[in-house]
Amino acid sequence: MNGTQVSKEAQPLCATRAVKVLKYLHSMVPKTVPRSSLHALEKLPSNLLAGLHTASDWDKVTEDAQLKSWLANNPIPSPKAKVSGPLFHGTLVFAQVSFAAPGLAPSGISAADTQTAINYATLAVVPIQRYASQYGPNSVSVWPVAIPYTAMVQGGAFGPAEFEGWVDDVAQFMRSQQVPDPCIVIMHNRSLPNSPSFTGQGNSLQPSHHSITGSGTPYCYSLVFDENLSIADNNHTVNNQANEKVYAHTLSHEIAEMVVDPRVDGSNPEVCDACSTNCNPFNLFELFDQNGGYMGGTADTGQASGFAFFINSIVRPGVVLDSNSCLAQGGDVQSACTYPPPVETGQLLSYGDAGTPGNVSDPVVVGFGGWLDFKFLFSGTNVAGENRIYAVVA
Ligand SMILES: [Zn+2]
Repeated sequence: MNGTQVSKEAQPLCATRAVKVLKYLHSMVPKTVPRSSLHALEKLPSNLLAGLHTASDWDKVTEDAQLKSWLANNPIPSPKAKVSGPLFHGTLVFAQVSFAAPGLAPSGISAADTQTAINYATLAVVPIQRYASQYGPNSVSVWPVAIPYTAMVQGGAFGPAEFEGWVDDVAQFMRSQQVPDPCIVIMHNRSLPNSPSFTGQGNSLQPSHHSITGSGTPYCYSLVFDENLSIADNNHTVNNQANEKVYAHTLSHEIAEMVVDPRVDGSNPEVCDACSTNCNPFNLFELFDQNGGYMGGTADTGQASGFAFFINSIVRPGVVLDSNSCLAQGGDVQSACTYPPPVETGQLLSYGDAGTPGNVSDPVVVGFGGWLDFKFLFSGTNVAGENRIYAVVA
């Protein structure tokens, strides 16, 4: 197994901002500029694309004189720190993609590893939903099983258009299964034999990102750096570092950012970049025990112990960010990123009662928010015997 190229910290963990800039240019640059000049931008490094709103040397960006002049006269909007669009309300659906090419054995992450990632995500979305609620109402659940999908690849590489076609295929299937708002998660381990590369957005080492298809399906593309995954993601040795992570850092980053910014249309911020190697020489993580209890933060999950799972930290709303979505100079990254998931008000909780003294259970959240609007809530049964919640609007 090629473990040597894994998780070089200080490489940007995530390329969502670069993908966003490309999407923006495709929609805004006038049709008189050849589309081939826009496609040529996909070969630029993702950090150059991500910072295009601050660029001034257009010779480094494009050879097309017409595009150069358009870029000089039409500044690209800076990333937003505040939310102006809706957050995600829906279901994460993991596709177990098998990349297939004529004459080659198919390549893809195993069913067992995909299921481990699903089980991880089922735990991780609980704190992610709470951190994201600082930015607005949201809900996120995880489909309990993977959807197998065979992706035909020509020439050892695929681009964004093909990738989004696969996402839409899986989403269409899920909508036919009464899952109306899926976000499709596709994980990719490029070190597996016969693995194709995702070349359309630059080179084959393009980082993980989230985006949305032309027909409106959000998705997460998340890199995986080894096999035999575990929920705590601390069972690999990478670059001689024991207990290293190989998937949960990228997966939690993309899920959390997708939940806050499902549309990738410039209206909402990317909330993990300020706490990751997009902005810093290190990534920050939050640790949770097996009951989902908060244990604190760390930059080095390999040195931490006793945790059941971790997620990439989510920056507090209200801290001052610079034009690259990083903490402004003088800002304290630790205090901006490391804090317990906030308690959400207005949730509807369900308590079990065994009928014996002291036996009322820990509550389960059955309604995500907005229940403070009601003056009274009580349960009952209608004449057909169906369980009902009755509410009195204040
Ligand atoms: Zn990001």
